[in-house]
Amino acid sequence: MAATLQRIKWAFGLAVTGLVTTLSGAIQAADIQSVRVWRAPDNTRLVFDLSGPVQHTVFTLSAPERVVIDVPASSFKATVNQLELKGTPIQSVRAAMNTPTDLRVVLDLSAGVNAKSFTLAPNAQYGHRLVIDLFDQPAGATSNVATAAATASTPVPTPPPAAPAQPLSTPSVPGKLTPLPTRGSRDVIIAIDAGHGGEDPGALGPNGLREKHVVLSIAKELQRQLTAQRGIRAELTRTGDYFIPLRKRTEIARAKGADMFVSIHADAALRKEAYGASVFALSGSGATSETARWLADKENQSDMIGGVGGVSLDDHDKMLRGVLLDLSMTASMSSSLDVGQKVLNNMGRITRLHKRRVEQAGFMVLKSPDIPSILVETGFISNPGESARLATKAHQQALARAVTAGLKEYFHQSPPVGTYLAGQKDSGKLPQGPRQHVVSRGDTLAVIATRYQVPLHNLRRANNLSTDVIKVGQTLNIPVN
Ligand SMILES: [Zn+2]
Repeated sequence: MAATLQRIKWAFGLAVTGLVTTLSGAIQAADIQSVRVWRAPDNTRLVFDLSGPVQHTVFTLSAPERVVIDVPASSFKATVNQLELKGTPIQSVRAAMNTPTDLRVVLDLSAGVNAKSFTLAPNAQYGHRLVIDLFDQPAGATSNVATAAATASTPVPTPPPAAPAQPLSTPSVPGKLTPLPTRGSRDVIIAIDAGHGGEDPGALGPNGLREKHVVLSIAKELQRQLTAQRGIRAELTRTGDYFIPLRKRTEIARAKGADMFVSIHADAALRKEAYGASVFALSGSGATSETARWLADKENQSDMIGGVGGVSLDDHDKMLRGVLLDLSMTASMSSSLDVGQKVLNNMGRITRLHKRRVEQAGFMVLKSPDIPSILVETGFISNPGESARLATKAHQQALARAVTAGLKEYFHQSPPVGTYLAGQKDSGKLPQGPRQHVVSRGDTLAVIATRYQVPLHNLRRANNLSTDVIKVGQTLNIPVN
């Protein structure tokens, strides 16, 4: 949202004002009760825990670099000397009453930042919060503020000197594709997404076990094992304990040129007996609404859709764009079901399964139209036995081995063009197991035959089909040529 706002500002040629106010109801007295800080590779998040809703104003000052947060009708009750500021641009946090009733918090910085702020309403775990995100800047840039909710009716005091808008150091702009070579021997790139992080702990298990920690350990082990495979490189969307919005996770994957997106989670259920691993792919309705969103979003129309051979949606009229996007989404979903079943089969050898078939849901992280995506629930963290196992290194390694085996099977059968694995397959150097295809929305027998490069009549014969009618979810054997 902030990135969109920033782009809108550029589009209209407006200077960044350096000051924006967020309103969240009438002024009432509130305390800042505690402060938490999270460091991500390209930004720092400060969370102020509040006793109630507040108004606030954020602006930046240069020479020296500072971020100033004004909170009317509030007082500062937090202790900040224990804050872990190492690795962040924050050198110190100061708070004082700016007027007898109005609080001013100053962050002294070692470098310029792009500051963004918003408030959060209470949830199950936390009360009212004020969140300040400080995005790192390239060296030499000056601070500025890009806030999610600008309020035009707010009187704007004289802003500090505004610097020209600087793009975020890692812009959260969808569709910035790493150009992929069409031939050659590049690695297959797999994005591994450890769910949750930072102030979002995910599911909670017995003995304080948190999903965010377990899934990061598994994700790192999976990255190690996958990258040890010749021709495969794995990249993490999250490398530490910090929060990444869901859309940003798929954007990171796209920016890394991912051929596959694998999100790692652990389940929780009210019923403590619930157990077993499961794998999810995107549901048909989730895909339909996402296709509509991509088509509706002007920004996305100029994006490259990598999954259909680098087709630019820009060049085509609206109807053709729809068809191309739909084809890409259908191909991605079909690949997702295929790879998901392979992963699930391998997991079934080392752990109990919750469901034996790939399930489908409208999870946000699965919605890339151009990157096959699966979500792996590694087990129920709410089940005492399974939770204890999930916490062990041995079980985490076994889970990673199973996911690696499933992904390897998939990429040995369907290596993307231009990869080392495609070269190996073309020269007959990859072992080919029996191939199967799970029918997804939009598939026809003819499309499947073309995709696997097998004659249609061979495909019919291999599956004892008397007609070409196939059902979504049906598993077809793909004959060897
Ligand atoms: Zn989760």
